[in-house]
Amino acid sequence: MLKNILIVGAGFSGAVIAERLSKTKKYNIVVMDKRCHIGGNCHTEVDPETKILVHKYGPHIFNTNNLDVWNYIRTFGTFNNFTNRIKVNSRGTIYSFPINLHTINQFFNVSLSPSEAAQFIDQKRDKSIIEARNFEEQALGMIGRDLYEAFIYGYTKKQWGCDPERLPASILKRLPVRFNYNDNYYDKIYQGIPQKGYSNIIENMLDDKSIRVLTDTPFDSSFDVSSFDHVFYTGSIDSFFDYKYGKLGYRTVTFEEERTIGDYQGNAVINYADLDVPYTRIHEHKHFSQKTNFKKTIYFREFSKETEIHDEPYYPKRLKDDKEALEKYQKDIEKKQNFTFLGRLGTYRYMDMELVISEALRISRNFKI
Ligand code: UDP
Repeated sequence: MLKNILIVGAGFSGAVIAERLSKTKKYNIVVMDKRCHIGGNCHTEVDPETKILVHKYGPHIFNTNNLDVWNYIRTFGTFNNFTNRIKVNSRGTIYSFPINLHTINQFFNVSLSPSEAAQFIDQKRDKSIIEARNFEEQALGMIGRDLYEAFIYGYTKKQWGCDPERLPASILKRLPVRFNYNDNYYDKIYQGIPQKGYSNIIENMLDDKSIRVLTDTPFDSSFDVSSFDHVFYTGSIDSFFDYKYGKLGYRTVTFEEERTIGDYQGNAVINYADLDVPYTRIHEHKHFSQKTNFKKTIYFREFSKETEIHDEPYYPKRLKDDKEALEKYQKDIEKKQNFTFLGRLGTYRYMDMELVISEALRISRNFKI
């Protein structure tokens, strides 16, 4: 007899589990998602007017060093070789980003070599900070106050809605600082964007006769799961438990869409570092594609804010109160028989797509009923 599997959420976590389990031929699988589309926050759509592939929930650039993940994901669609080269606007001037030799030379109006720049920044950084206790200390200990205030402080305060002193140092560890001219945002070997978009990849993953996909189907505590032998849950933990230990903090983002003729900003992403500019960045999606024949362009100003009950949660904040509530939720999760919580929302972790996929691959490999 085939076992019945319910997967809540049709993002990458849910799609990988569904795809892997479908190949075993041992399960009937239902994937449900409250949204009207699959793909979760990676969802992409071709904009009918401009014909540009739009990342509806903000830019997603796939990047990984994990060859297994890279090979796996490319069996569902072809990726282009987009490389993320971000620019940042600080006090009205455009700089190369993440901070590299070009940024340092331009910002300090010098022409240093790599070793001279390393020495120069070493003099600027706060050497009294041995072990950073928070984001700000991590930054000051790494690059010093001038670069921190120009490129990091304002952006971070806008993105996270609190002083960087309250944030964990780990967030900044995502950003490289380089003493050469490499301006590739990611330190990863494999990088790109699916030519037909992420939703097309996920559609291909879910394309199996043992998988039934239900969109517009919300899951809540009243949902009857008794007919399922196992449930993989990729939604948010606090909503699953009806917020009984309180709401976990997330930042969410909203977008202001604009269109014009030609090329608006000449690059896929430009960050805005200053606090007096209310948005964090502008993304222009035609630049994610390698096609050059679009007449019009579509771009989005991105604003960050606290998540209300009806907003889409994006970035887990993991502040002190969140961690306390999370521990309580985790104890309840351990007691839940026949449930697996996974993914960014299901584990309340700031995860990139590659990690989401590798964890879902591991979970499906170890799954036995
Ligand atoms: N950051 C910044 N200035 C920038 C870009 C990023 O200060 O122009 C900081 C910010 O605190 C952010 C962190 O670096 O949360 C990590 O950036 P990343 O690009 O990894 O964030 P993502 O948007 O991918 O979550």
